[in-house]
Amino acid sequence: MAIRKPAVAPAAIVCGAGGFIGHHLVTKLKSRGYTVRGVDLKLPEYGPSSADEFLLLDLRNPAACVEAVSGSVPGGGPAEVYQLAADMGGMGFISGADCEMLRDNAAINANMIHASAEAGNVRYFFASSVCIYRDMLHGEAALSEDDAYPALPANEYGWEKLYSERVALAYARRYRMDVRIARFQNCYGPEGAWQGGREKVPAAVCRKVAAAQPGDVIELWGDGSAVRSFVYVDDLVDAVLRLMASDVAAPTNIGSREYVSIAKLFEIVAAVAGKNLRVRYVPGPVGVQSRNFSNARIESLGWQAKVSLEEGVGRTYKWVSAQVAAAGDDSDATLSSGNRAALRR
Ligand code: NAD
Repeated sequence: MAIRKPAVAPAAIVCGAGGFIGHHLVTKLKSRGYTVRGVDLKLPEYGPSSADEFLLLDLRNPAACVEAVSGSVPGGGPAEVYQLAADMGGMGFISGADCEMLRDNAAINANMIHASAEAGNVRYFFASSVCIYRDMLHGEAALSEDDAYPALPANEYGWEKLYSERVALAYARRYRMDVRIARFQNCYGPEGAWQGGREKVPAAVCRKVAAAQPGDVIELWGDGSAVRSFVYVDDLVDAVLRLMASDVAAPTNIGSREYVSIAKLFEIVAAVAGKNLRVRYVPGPVGVQSRNFSNARIESLGWQAKVSLEEGVGRTYKWVSAQVAAAGDDSDATLSSGNRAALRR
């Protein structure tokens, strides 16, 4: 597995640069000397982008994808295209947006890789997900990348990702194009969605804990037994860059080796916050029961997640609790008064 070290950092085009991971990726690419074009429907919500230029484009539109990779890339020359744009969110969003995800994300992914292939001289990265894998039983042996088939993703988000992986691989063959595909585990950290319905479980738990008073009961979906692994955003971005610079052409899992139940995640957040809270499990969209993935392929490139869950939760909680405090009563972060009264009964 070779790591490519170009003499001069190439230009990078980051699609989804207004989102959580894309924004962090732009910052990292800039720190490595890249000239960067950010592309998204929106600017980042929690601070200015450090991209050299930022194009507001709807990438469902084929002409917008052509514009995103057009010749005026700052710095010129070959470009690295990072395709992270997607209509997505946590389980609350994923469970109710089947049509949007299947239509919008398939359009973005098919149009972006087509435009990149036609532009030529492009190395292409696609952000896939471990949602392409089937559900697992507690304690099951780790799935490796090849275990994606026979395919049985647990939701439409995963099916679309698997379809778009295949589109990317087909273009790689036809156009002899370098394509790298990462299957991300749950990613968390500061400056990601923390309210409004698109937030993931770590940010949602941080928000609920930040808004709670000592002794409160907070509600979580499911029964707390679902097992997940969470990768801190800085680690994930490092892995993306390592994969992009490698000769690994096959889809590659990126995640932490640390697996916890949702009940344990809650305990970690409450401990970090120093709050004595109780939890009530309520029906809601939980997603798969368990996860366990081999990271051997990405670890063969010398990468391993460095930030422990406790450390990452510490940094994330600090940021989310500042957002909760700043939002005050205008936020949906706090438990509604009716909800709080009900929970105290
Ligand atoms: P995010 O929602 O924060 O960012 C996605 C960005 O895509 C948003 O800024 C959004 O505005 C943009 N976008 C959506 N539709 C668009 C369109 N039509 N045109 C242009 N831009 C559009 O999500 P994220 O957490 O940063 O995830 C980035 C990528 O990684 C996504 O492809 C996601 O599916 C994948 N992924 C994320 C996780 C995770 O835990 N965050 C896990 C697995 C895979």
